[in-house]
Amino acid sequence: MRKVPPRLLLLFAISLLLFVFSSSHAADFQTPWAKKVVASDTFTGKVVGVSDGETISVMRVGRAVKVRLHGIDCPEKGQPFGKRAERFTSEMAFGMEVEVQIKTTDRYGRIVGEVILPDGLSLNKDLVHAGFAWWYRKYAPNDRTLKALEAGARAKKGGLWADKNPIPPWEWRRGERGRQAKKKQVSGFYHGNIKSRLFHKPGCRYYDCKDCTATFKRREETIKAGYRPCKVCNP
Ligand SMILES: [Zn+2]
Repeated sequence: MRKVPPRLLLLFAISLLLFVFSSSHAADFQTPWAKKVVASDTFTGKVVGVSDGETISVMRVGRAVKVRLHGIDCPEKGQPFGKRAERFTSEMAFGMEVEVQIKTTDRYGRIVGEVILPDGLSLNKDLVHAGFAWWYRKYAPNDRTLKALEAGARAKKGGLWADKNPIPPWEWRRGERGRQAKKKQVSGFYHGNIKSRLFHKPGCRYYDCKDCTATFKRREETIKAGYRPCKVCNP
């Protein structure tokens, strides 16, 4: 048998190595959505602000970005335990270096993610466990962990579950919008522009103008106060 020259053997070995190396890289580029991207969807930064129980500001490449905690919903500030939820988040996370695992962005373009505290635990889960947040079923329908944590907090009557009938924040917000609209109607039907002295009825494009700060229940009151009807809405 003819002997293979050692130089040819070496060349073969090198090209084999190169082939394996390049094909493994090619595989990575072919599936960028598989593993590589997950790492870049996580960032670490200091918590520099707490807006409420489920919204914090985290430093990312030199600037603070808003992060909404994924899969949970804290009671609003006007609800029982709303302030407590905010304090809980403050105490757990403010000034800490946290890891943000981005899940998605919301309709305001804010990051929605899971926040991992320096002790390795999830702030999202901690909040639900302590009874300061609900499992946000609508946005994390398949999250069995959050579901179980909420059930546990309910059973222990921890935090907001001390109340017999706590109102889910998403229902409360809906009610609050209705209450605000009603309040506006009761407090004043006509809006008067304090500069132009014209007054408008609801539906007019000038109704909520910058200087339309005077409100009146009745038309006569408005005229008695020295306002003239607007020509657009003819109140
Ligand atoms: Zn008008």
